[in-house]
Amino acid sequence: MKEKKIILLLFSVVLLLSTGVMAEGWRSRVWPATPKFIPPLSGWIITIDPGHGGTDSGAYNATLDLREKDINLQIGLKLRTSLIKLGAQVEMTRETDVSMDIPDRRTFSNNKGAHRLVSLHVNAASSTAAEGIETWVDTDSDNVWKAYASSLHNNAVAAAQSYDATIKDRGVKYSGSTPPWGDGRKIGVIRYDLLSHPAALLELNFISNDREATRLVRNDYQLALAQGIAQGFKEHARVYRKEDGLRR
Ligand SMILES: [Zn+2]
Repeated sequence: MKEKKIILLLFSVVLLLSTGVMAEGWRSRVWPATPKFIPPLSGWIITIDPGHGGTDSGAYNATLDLREKDINLQIGLKLRTSLIKLGAQVEMTRETDVSMDIPDRRTFSNNKGAHRLVSLHVNAASSTAAEGIETWVDTDSDNVWKAYASSLHNNAVAAAQSYDATIKDRGVKYSGSTPPWGDGRKIGVIRYDLLSHPAALLELNFISNDREATRLVRNDYQLALAQGIAQGFKEHARVYRKEDGLRR
């Protein structure tokens, strides 16, 4: 009887030890102590500025009853999702249909300590044939600003053209030098002297062109544009640190 008790006790000890060792082995195999993956935009604070809003509709297509402010916001919200997936902290100047003036948009972004700002717009022209995508950057800005604008532009255009190969690339343009923004006139929301971080403004196709406007309201096209712009951020962050181009 005494022997049986001792054998039972020894057996219990061995069982306890072996399950402990197995559990340890299991833990070390399945859950590594230090995860190595760091998202490409980790630590980046990015301001998304959907242009216009509230009482300011922006450009208007009367034939299709489409307002620029709505399209800007729809694309902006999709871009937010894409940038958060890449690890960024996103600040929206507006996330609903509200008015906000240009100086307040700049102040908002500066106060958030943003590393970059992207302003989203769609274009309009008196000629209904005008089409394509263009991107604006302050002509007096530095090389980081210009590289940033190019990266967003090239990737937005690439994504748009893989959706529809006929979409026109209108290039990067310089606010303060390229007409109609010349002779000292500049786009307020991307002013080099009034922002503490690089900024670019995208004009994503023409709402005044019925063919482009019809495409612009499509959910899948908006997603393609948002993913293209996000890819532009990813590419920019491969070459530049978030601190590059800051003036504060
Ligand atoms: Zn606009």
